[in-house]
Amino acid sequence: MFNISELGRVLTEEFLQAGGRIETMEFHTPADLSKLKQKVVINCTGYGARALWKDESVVPVRGQIAWLIPQPEASYGIVYDNVSMIARRDGIVIQQTGPDESWGYNDPNETVDREEAMGAVASIARAYA
Ligand SMILES: Cc1cc2nc3c(=O)[nH]c(=O)nc-3n(C[C@H](O)[C@H](O)[C@H](O)COP(=O)(O)OP(=O)(O)OC[C@H]3O[C@@H](n4cnc5c(N)ncnc54)[C@H](O)[C@@H]3O)c2cc1C
Repeated sequence: MFNISELGRVLTEEFLQAGGRIETMEFHTPADLSKLKQKVVINCTGYGARALWKDESVVPVRGQIAWLIPQPEASYGIVYDNVSMIARRDGIVIQQTGPDESWGYNDPNETVDREEAMGAVASIARAYA
């Protein structure tokens, strides 16, 4: 299990220390890449590749997570009642996982679902009752 926030911070720091620079820009079509003066472009646009490159092999999988404050004494994860709980150093992540791997598959909805988040926390609370 990786603490992804910390890993991101370390990698960014190493990149900057090695002389890297970050410039923010948005590409709406592949033709926009011609605005770059660099000869080599590494395409790592993640889910954005679906829109930018019309790459439909990149499929959205919706997941609603809830965060509880970090609890250093919790150093494990459990799955209970189709809800996963993973204790990380930066907080406890709780997520409805559904009955199987198809849960959220091909669902591009990015709207926060507070009810689902609260339901997942309530399920995990029952595991400790
Ligand atoms: C809420 C959440 C929690 C997660 N937690 C974990 C976790 O705990 N552990 C774990 O291992 N993984 C986790 N993941 C998954 C992990 O974040 C991804 O697998 C990982 O970030 C993918 O890396 P990537 O570099 O391929 O793409 P991304 O990190 O998505 O990077 C793509 C980049 O391209 C940019 N981009 C996209 N399209 C364009 C465009 N048209 N123009 C300009 N820029 C563009 C985006 O802004 C972004 O900066 C989580 C994901 C989410 C959403």
